[in-house]
Amino acid sequence: MSATELRLVLLGCPGAGKGTQAKVLCERYGITHLSTGDCFRAEGAAGTALGKKVADYMKRGVLVPDAVVNEVVASKLDALKGGWLLDGFPRTLDQAQELDRYLRANGQKLDLVLALAMKPEEIVRRLTSRRSCSCGEVYNLLSRPPRAEGVCDKCAKPLLQREDDTEATVRKRLMVYEDLTSPLVAYYRSGGVFTEVDGSLPVSDVTKGLCAAVDALAGSPSKS
Ligand code: AMP
Repeated sequence: MSATELRLVLLGCPGAGKGTQAKVLCERYGITHLSTGDCFRAEGAAGTALGKKVADYMKRGVLVPDAVVNEVVASKLDALKGGWLLDGFPRTLDQAQELDRYLRANGQKLDLVLALAMKPEEIVRRLTSRRSCSCGEVYNLLSRPPRAEGVCDKCAKPLLQREDDTEATVRKRLMVYEDLTSPLVAYYRSGGVFTEVDGSLPVSDVTKGLCAAVDALAGSPSKS
C-alpha cells in the first residue's frame, strides 16, 4: 500500500488533540485531512444553508443529526483523490456503519483507526484554555500560549475562544462523547484495525506513537 492511499480514522474525545495530530499525520503521509467540525465551522462562517442548519447543534455542544453528517462526508469523500484521514467522524455507531457501507460500495476499506485516550478532567482544563485564530492556528493558554496575549503569532489577528469551548458546553460535549462516541472504540477494536495512544503525553510523543502504528502497516513507506 502506498502511504498516499492510506485511509485513516482518528478517534478521540473533544480536546484529545485530534486536530493537531491530524495536521501532522496528513502532512507526513500526503493524505487529505477531513474534519467535520472544521467543515461545519467553515460553512457557518460562509453563511451557507448547511452552516445555518448545523449552527445551533454546535453551539449547544450536541451532535448534528447523522443523516446530515453522513451526506456531507460521503460527498466530500466522493470528491477526494488519494488517501484521507477523518477527524471527528464517525461519532456514532450509525455514522460508523454508514462509513463501512460507503467504503464497501466503493471497493475500499479502512487501513487503521487511531484513538487518542484522555481523562475527562484533563479535557476540561485543556479545552477551556484553547484559543484559535481565523487563519487556522490553534493555541493553548497553558501549554502553547501566543507570544503576545490574545494575538496570533502568525498573522497578528485577535485570537478567539470557540463558542463551544466554554466550561458548560465542554462538559456537555464530553457527556455526548461518552454516550454516543465511546462505543466506537469497542466497535473498531473488534474490527482488528485499531490502535490506541495516550493523548495526555506531550504532542510529539503522541505523534510518534501514531506514526509508529501507521508505519507498521504492511508496505507503508515511512517518510521522516
Ligand atoms: P469538533 O470540531 O470535531 O469538536 O466538532 C464541533 C461540533 O461539530 C460538534 O460538537 C458537533 O456539534 C458537530 N460535529 C462535528 N462532527 C460531527 C459528527 N461526526 N457528527 C455529529 N456532529 C458533529
